[in-house]
Amino acid sequence: MPLVTWIKAGTSATALVLATAGAASAAPSVEPPSAQAAVVTLRYDDSRAAGWEAAIAAGVASWNANVTNVRLVEAAPGGAAEIVIVATTGWPQATLGPVRPGRQVRVELGSQAVNQGYNKTRIAAHELGHSLGLPDTKPGPCSQLMSGSSAGTACTNAVPNATERSRVQSNYANGVTSSVVTDGRTLVDAP
Ligand SMILES: [Zn+2]
Repeated sequence: MPLVTWIKAGTSATALVLATAGAASAAPSVEPPSAQAAVVTLRYDDSRAAGWEAAIAAGVASWNANVTNVRLVEAAPGGAAEIVIVATTGWPQATLGPVRPGRQVRVELGSQAVNQGYNKTRIAAHELGHSLGLPDTKPGPCSQLMSGSSAGTACTNAVPNATERSRVQSNYANGVTSSVVTDGRTLVDAP
């Protein structure tokens, strides 16, 4: 019933709907229905983010280790992606999500921040936080991922705190049918 509804509504990528349905039917009644339906998979394309691969991988791993309602996976080469990550020579910036499957947001990882001494993994995790719908919380302490540059160049924390984790969990709480609206603004992370 929900599967038919999603396809007719056309609100998400068919492949994702089918993948979700396949996973759900492959493991019947092991978990409560709400847990099965909750995980949203978002693909990221970092093929134009040369030099940032390790930082992106670490930032992605941080999010995947700290939230359960949404999962970030690398897009297939040349394939579709919800999060397009590119390297630039400017300041880091990103579209404010939360991005939905089949839609797209952009992350720019700017070398100007690296030249100023900011930590690359924290930058990548912070910008991905914007993709997942977290705004900036500046000024703020190093313990906040979304305090960004305001925590100073010595801050290398790339782990979202409890409040940040909880907000992302809420943004993706009802899977692809979540009612939280994508913001769409571009946030520039210049100090
Ligand atoms: Zn920011």
